Amino acid sequence: MAKINSSYQKLKAGYLFPEIARRVRDFSAANPEAKIIRLGIGDVVLPLPESIREAMKKAIDEMGKAETFRGYGPEQGYEFLREAIAKHDYASRSVNVSADEIFISDGSKCDTGNIQEIFSLDSRIAVVDPVYPVYVDTNVMAGRTGGMDAGGRYDGIIYMPSTAENQFRPEFPKEKPDLIYLCSPNNPTGTVMTHEDLGKWVDYARRTEAIILFDSAYHEFIADPTLPRSIYEIDGARGVAIEFRSFSKNAGFTGTRCAFTVVPKDLRAKNDSGEYVTVHSLWSRRQSTKFNGVSYPVQRGAEAVYSEKGQAETRGLIAYYMANAKLIREGLEATGLDVYGGVNAPYVWIKTPSKMGSWEFFDMLLKEAHVVGTPGAGFGPSGEGYFRLSSFAFRQNVEEAITRIKTKLASRV
Ligand code: PLP
Repeated sequence: MAKINSSYQKLKAGYLFPEIARRVRDFSAANPEAKIIRLGIGDVVLPLPESIREAMKKAIDEMGKAETFRGYGPEQGYEFLREAIAKHDYASRSVNVSADEIFISDGSKCDTGNIQEIFSLDSRIAVVDPVYPVYVDTNVMAGRTGGMDAGGRYDGIIYMPSTAENQFRPEFPKEKPDLIYLCSPNNPTGTVMTHEDLGKWVDYARRTEAIILFDSAYHEFIADPTLPRSIYEIDGARGVAIEFRSFSKNAGFTGTRCAFTVVPKDLRAKNDSGEYVTVHSLWSRRQSTKFNGVSYPVQRGAEAVYSEKGQAETRGLIAYYMANAKLIREGLEATGLDVYGGVNAPYVWIKTPSKMGSWEFFDMLLKEAHVVGTPGAGFGPSGEGYFRLSSFAFRQNVEEAITRIKTKLASRV
């Protein structure tokens, strides 16, 4: 009889979004007249910009002619896209990342999930809590953890609480980690690390020989020019960090799928004999064995993000979502709630009033205002007592949701 990977059975049943869907379904069935507004899942709503669509259409036409048809592409991604990224995302900000250090993929979810497999199974993992759940669950699947305790923590993972009490700046862990997942701008808290914050983590990683897995899927939402967008803006980061970026949120690629990971050639880790090995060669081996590249039309679409028109159009998308974030933030503040994020990130993180639990607040918002958000507890134990609202929605819905929250909730806060 075939046996399963029993680590999968350690995963917490009823993952966050299915549970939200179940509650919304039950509420809708009992209240069919309620017009529900969803500010929960972080999926974009605005269509793909014209410059991107045009580039993709042109590429599809090329695929339709024998002389320009392309079959399998390079596993690491086409050079035209890697060069565009190196030039516009990095060189333009005086950051040293070369095109051959960039690996194109079909999503940061896959990359942040897959990266752990090139590291030893006994690697100690540290995550900021609350956290994008993929970092934790993929390590559970790989067998790096025990079960989950009553407090919602997996045995074997180092949780670093990030709450209003520590200004969302987690302390260095007492136990020494090998791999540290950081995400800035942060999902779910919407907070952003400064040069000083990130510098401390880079120093810490250098001192302890740890590697930082830096997820900057939301870097384009940073408006404040003094904040770092890439970990490689910090001296010494090339020797200790891998960076993940995605076209999903800034360019509307959640359904089109394109992202990339930067693995600097000077990043090294030890093998079982204590010798240093370049991580770039391992990730390259992993990708060329298990991945066959992103489709040519999609890579041409991603390249168009960096054209003059593409830049203007994607800036427009970001401005739209950030205007939503401002409305959400200011509307909630006006009700007397403590609100974080939403300034350099598309997520607004709310402290639930009167010590209400995250799910309790979820149910109240659904029942009273017919608005769906995401309970903070779903992102980790330190997310309990918090709630996330996303700015990825149509303006009209955001305005309506905030009006309802203001009228229905003011008395409860
Ligand atoms: N990283 C973070 C922090 C995210 O919030 C998300 C999506 O919500 C992703 C990565 C996934 O991005 P992609 O669509 O490129 O898979």
